[in-house]
Amino acid sequence: MSASSPGEQLHAFAERLYPICRSITGNGVRRTLRIIGERIPLSINEVPSGSEAFDWEVPLEWNIEDAWIEAPDGNRLAELGRHNLHIVSYSEPIRATVDLAALRHHLHTLPAKPDLIPYRTSYYRRQWGFCLSHRDAEALEPGKYHVVVESSLAPGSLTYGECFVPGRSTQEVVLFTHVCHPSLANDNTSGMTIATELAAWLASEPRRFGYRIVFAPGTIGSLCWLRNNEHGLKRIRHGLVIGLLGDPQPLTYKQSRRGNRDVDRIVPFVLRNLDASSRVIPFEPYGYDERQLCSPGFDLPVGRLTRAVNDGYPEYHTSADDLSLVTPGKLEESLEALKQIVTALEDDVRYINMCPKGEPQLGKRGLYGSMGGSSPADAQRAMLWVLSQSDGHTSLVDISAKADLPLASIKQAATQLEAAGLLKQQEDPAPPANEQ
Ligand code: ZN
Repeated sequence: MSASSPGEQLHAFAERLYPICRSITGNGVRRTLRIIGERIPLSINEVPSGSEAFDWEVPLEWNIEDAWIEAPDGNRLAELGRHNLHIVSYSEPIRATVDLAALRHHLHTLPAKPDLIPYRTSYYRRQWGFCLSHRDAEALEPGKYHVVVESSLAPGSLTYGECFVPGRSTQEVVLFTHVCHPSLANDNTSGMTIATELAAWLASEPRRFGYRIVFAPGTIGSLCWLRNNEHGLKRIRHGLVIGLLGDPQPLTYKQSRRGNRDVDRIVPFVLRNLDASSRVIPFEPYGYDERQLCSPGFDLPVGRLTRAVNDGYPEYHTSADDLSLVTPGKLEESLEALKQIVTALEDDVRYINMCPKGEPQLGKRGLYGSMGGSSPADAQRAMLWVLSQSDGHTSLVDISAKADLPLASIKQAATQLEAAGLLKQQEDPAPPANEQ
């Protein structure tokens, strides 16, 4: 039996996470984090119901055992056991008999996509409801319907997980993905899968920065994390919110709120070199946890990497966002892009030319024509570019972009020049989080 490809392994992990009934609190998130914790070291944080997170409050914990509607003919429909999307997330418990007209007030459908089940939540308004295909809802006959929602809303806690990979520097890169959606493959499962595998890769060798990978419910979860970590935010040098990474659309970078942070320069540089169809879009206050992380009170240098943009794909928040939309190939491509982004963040170093008056004589230092690699001419050019640009302000990523030479060649040239005493690395500047 041949080993499965990295993309197939990613997809297999997504298949484990997809069936779990998640919400912003409850055992679905805990089960999810336990599975992620089998792969990477994860610290689990529980934030009690009623805790304040800035202008928000952690709600009661919601858990669900089962839910269904029994039709007048005795058949069951909208059964939770058939699809997690059938129940409106945070539905309160109920056991009642209602007529069709009353039932319809609690049914949610998508008339424009009559075969799909929509995804609906009601975190902050107490109600109950079912989601089903418009076609099934239209076919309901008049009569008495028995509705059962076996759920609980009780004081408990909100759960988030965090994996920290230490680096040489005290500065950190934060990576955020949301973990609150039930049985939606691209919007949720793909982000968790990629973030898990990226964390495992990050921990596999020494790094310049510390990496903090956070798996939290959207909005209230990231606000709880921000509240618990507010004192340490100045250590954040770069950040990315990641999700929606398995669909067929090209990789898309959404800029930080200010749009001019280092991450806004480095990620588009990597994507440009990877895929000419990749996109860069400006910040907007709609989307995922970048809304909280970039809010003016935190103003973190955090961008976002996705493929599709928010609701910009037809399967968004419907039962069609399933494991067939997310492909091994796209998952693997997304993970590879993130590895290259990390490499570029780590290599984005500034040097000073220690022999800046004229060109240093490379021959007498054994550097002229001495380099290996497939193209000695390119290696020579890389050296000249690094020497000419190393004024303490221009980073290796900038030099690679200007010279149109691979970052790896620029980095190799800098390493050799530094070993020959011709370059000196600039210290990492102070964390930029609070600069204005
Ligand atoms: Zn969503």
